[in-house]
Amino acid sequence: MKRHAIFRHEFVESFPTTLEVGVVYISMQYATITHQCACGCGNEVVTPLSPTDWQLYFDGISISLSPSIGNWNFACRSHYFIRQNRVQWARQWTQTEVDAGRKRDLLAKEQYFGEDRNAKAGPEAKRPGRWRRFLERFL
Ligand SMILES: [Zn+2]
Repeated sequence: MKRHAIFRHEFVESFPTTLEVGVVYISMQYATITHQCACGCGNEVVTPLSPTDWQLYFDGISISLSPSIGNWNFACRSHYFIRQNRVQWARQWTQTEVDAGRKRDLLAKEQYFGEDRNAKAGPEAKRPGRWRRFLERFL
C-alpha cells in the first residue's frame, strides 16, 4: 500500500462513483467531503461538515480539515490530518481513546443542538408572556 503525502482537492456537485486516488472531493451542496483513505487501503472516507463534525478551511489554494481523520472502522485504523492538502500522519489511537473520543463527539452534539433548540424555543416562548404582563400594568 502506498501512502499519500499530498492531496489535490476538487469542488464537485456530486461525488464520482469511483474516487480517484489522492483527490479530496468537496461537495458544498451536501456539506460533505470524501476521499480514499490516505494509507492506500482503498477505503472511502466520508466526512460530514458541520459545527460538531468536521470543518473545512479553504485558503484559496489548498484545503485543511479539522479535526483529524481517524479511520477506526477500517482495518488500517489510520489517523491523519489534512493540512494545506498535505497528509500529516498521527499516532494510532487505542480503543479506549477511540471510545472516549466518540463520547466527546456525542456530548458536543448534544450540547450544541440542545442549546440551539433552547435558544430558539426559549425567548420566543417567553416573549408574549412578558409583554402581556407588562401591558397588564397599564390596563
Ligand atoms: Zn486506510
